[in-house]
Amino acid sequence: MIDFHCHLDLFPSPSEAIDEIERSGIYALSVTTTPKAFPKTAMLAHRRKRIRTALGLHPQLAHERHGEVGMFVRLLGETDYVGEIGLDGGDEFAEHLAVQKDVLDRILRACSDVGGRIMSIHSRHASAEVLDALGRHPGSGVPVLHWFSGPPAHAERAVEMGAWFSVGLPMLRSRRAAALVARLPRDRVLTETDAPFASTVGSQYPTPALKEALARLAGLWGTDDATTWRCLNNNLRTLTGTVKATYAAAR
Ligand code: MN
Repeated sequence: MIDFHCHLDLFPSPSEAIDEIERSGIYALSVTTTPKAFPKTAMLAHRRKRIRTALGLHPQLAHERHGEVGMFVRLLGETDYVGEIGLDGGDEFAEHLAVQKDVLDRILRACSDVGGRIMSIHSRHASAEVLDALGRHPGSGVPVLHWFSGPPAHAERAVEMGAWFSVGLPMLRSRRAAALVARLPRDRVLTETDAPFASTVGSQYPTPALKEALARLAGLWGTDDATTWRCLNNNLRTLTGTVKATYAAAR
């Protein structure tokens, strides 16, 4: 199975979560919320073949952590993956949208400068603004919109721009969100948990939530679990292949 957006460093016991991921053979993208958290979080996945660590600066922290953009840029050479980045226009964070946009633009420019990255992107209540930012930085890499909750028209625009989507159990349980997922191109979809913030019951890594997400995706697509898994696995190979083919040459 694939978990393309989880916060391993924020589990009460990251090592237990990682052991479970290993045991279940899960391919995971471990995202971070601040550049400062990246080195330690990357160490957690040291020698774990199926775990990659993404360098992030969460939009909900941008107003407090914008001083870490320089560190972000310095660390960018250490990973092919960026996240969690993006914008959050929800009530609690809308007042900081200007600084969020400034931070995101600087990050996307830095990604362009190094030849592009695979980017896990938060776009809550700000999907149009996120797509505008990506449009300003077409060389920034491949965006993977995490837990996308914008209107269908924005999803269509994102697809046209080459974006991918990572979808988790809360999305697939929501009738409205599931209807949106059903309309996405199947070759642009991956699964995620956003654990431990979502999908989790208690403090354990939520393998059952990932299984249920796969089963619900199979239901939406009218395919069996094995076929659905093959599709997701092919998608992951395609996506990670874009790093090797396009961006490795730039380094
Ligand atoms: Mn997250």
